[in-house]
Amino acid sequence: MNTDVKLEGAFAQSPYAGRSAQMFPHLTPVQITRLSAHGRKSAIQKGQVLAEPGDRLPMFVVLSGSIEIVQPTLTGETLIVVHTAGSFSGDVGTLRGSSSVVRMRVREGGEVLSIDEAHLRTIFQTDTELSELFMRAFILRRVALISTQSSDVVLLGSTRSAGTLRLQQFLTRNTYPFVNLDVDTDASVSELLDRFQIKVEHFPVVLCRGSVVLKNPSNEEVAACLGMNQQIDDERIRDVVVVGAGPAGLAAGVYGASEGLDVLVLETGTPGGQAGSSSKIENYLGFPTGISGLALAARALIQAQKFGAEIRTAYSALHLNCNQRPYAIEFANGHAVRTHTVIIATGADYRQLSLDNASRFLDMGIYYAATTTEARRCGTAEVIVVGGGNSAGQAAVYLAGTCKRVNLLVRANGLTDSMSQYLIRRIADTPNITLRTRTEITALEGEDQLARVTWKTAPGNVPETHDIRHVFLMTGALPCTGWLNACVALNEKGFVRTGSDLRSEDLSERKWTNARQPEFFETSVPGIFAVGDVRCGSVKRVAAAVGEGSACIQQVHRVLHGS
Ligand SMILES: Cc1cc2nc3c(=O)[nH]c(=O)nc-3n(C[C@H](O)[C@H](O)[C@H](O)COP(=O)(O)OP(=O)(O)OC[C@H]3O[C@@H](n4cnc5c(N)ncnc54)[C@H](O)[C@@H]3O)c2cc1C
Repeated sequence: MNTDVKLEGAFAQSPYAGRSAQMFPHLTPVQITRLSAHGRKSAIQKGQVLAEPGDRLPMFVVLSGSIEIVQPTLTGETLIVVHTAGSFSGDVGTLRGSSSVVRMRVREGGEVLSIDEAHLRTIFQTDTELSELFMRAFILRRVALISTQSSDVVLLGSTRSAGTLRLQQFLTRNTYPFVNLDVDTDASVSELLDRFQIKVEHFPVVLCRGSVVLKNPSNEEVAACLGMNQQIDDERIRDVVVVGAGPAGLAAGVYGASEGLDVLVLETGTPGGQAGSSSKIENYLGFPTGISGLALAARALIQAQKFGAEIRTAYSALHLNCNQRPYAIEFANGHAVRTHTVIIATGADYRQLSLDNASRFLDMGIYYAATTTEARRCGTAEVIVVGGGNSAGQAAVYLAGTCKRVNLLVRANGLTDSMSQYLIRRIADTPNITLRTRTEITALEGEDQLARVTWKTAPGNVPETHDIRHVFLMTGALPCTGWLNACVALNEKGFVRTGSDLRSEDLSERKWTNARQPEFFETSVPGIFAVGDVRCGSVKRVAAAVGEGSACIQQVHRVLHGS
């Protein structure tokens, strides 16, 4: 294998430059012969543009001649690499069927072998050696491209605005290369504002492909402009549609597709769900030094796509129609998809502080769980626990064991209406817990990590600022079930009942006519399942969600095949 690949421009400076041999490997003649059965040969002419950013294209294996890969920018283009004979184009987007993020131009005429998405997937599933080689190259190419911070997609906004943070998260978690310009600190912004006639009230703004200006766009608008999603085929009836691409939904996608089911996964935001916002998951089996939620989600996403699961991001399920089978899931754009079975994996939204910058400190000072992992991060520092329920009480008592002081903040006049007596007593008996009633947080400050918190206490409401770097929000979670259209039985808090949690009235009200009992993850409607945080009684952890999503597939098979 040839290892002397010459990286160009910003790519040569990337932290991944040392891995150029894995990023741009050359195929052996034997490997090319194996690939020939999956592709079509065609001639290429000098100067021919094979793809522009936004185009959907096959993978090209260069048989002779050469192709240059360039990254268009607002000021021109940056050469990344030149593919010569034996080299191949593509990155994770090629496998996903999403559009190209680079321009491909023929440098020297010759011949290429074009392999389309379906054939590429067959190779991934049948040829272990090539699957590994392509997968490693595709992932490295995309992460290196992102690390160059060079793109014709520019996000203009302020780090103090929630809209900017939403779009940053959306692009980052979809592994889309973009340039981030902060209007508060970046001097080059004013030139762009004049050039594209953008006013401050338009922020955040996405310059899409260096020409289209999207003003405060939704995730859907950005996804459409960047060609992230292919149109869903309305005519096809799926074996299973998974709604939600958090750990539970992605696991269902991987197991469903790898076991031969026709799987479509829909995600309103970005794959990874709640876990995607965790800077380090330390309790997930097999990662002794921890793994960021982003990395775990990116790996799971590509794994699901490798097996052929179709995944659509920025695609919200608006409405479930369970009156007839196949079931239908409707979208905001008026389209619908039909399916024999549905897996509800829409998770739960943890109640956040209603402050613009609160999501910025997720896992960087704001936590939704008080386990040893979070406690270790706090050390002996002073902390805040927000909430008046049992989970807040347990967290306060637990953290008081190691922290200098625990401030327990509640909006109510006391704890009696919301917390068990035994916990109220424990709190009163623990000298380093200070209960602050009628108190709420009004401001958070810090750079990356939370550094200061301001709260006010009624009736005076005088703001007090404290150098506290850790806040535990134990204010509960709201299940994302609004789209279910009252199809399935929920518990009193709105979580979906499944299996043995279903009461007889749940089944009779919903006209469960089957002779069999519901499967463990099955809801009150045959063939509709629920997994992960949205399910009543679930353990709110990544591993549990992954386990439920995977195990559910066996039950989907049983329902599909009537056994
Ligand atoms: C900051 C943070 C840190 C955490 N750290 C850890 C940790 O270290 N270890 C651990 O074990 N657990 C951790 N957790 C908990 C863990 O992340 C969750 O238990 C887990 O993500 C639940 O997975 P899920 O797939 O059931 O739901 P989610 O992760 O909530 O995913 C649900 C997905 O469904 C999507 N969705 C919702 N409605 C729709 C709709 N109508 N249409 C389409 N899509 C929809 C959402 O956008 C979301 O992506 C953490 C949670 C948070 C918030």
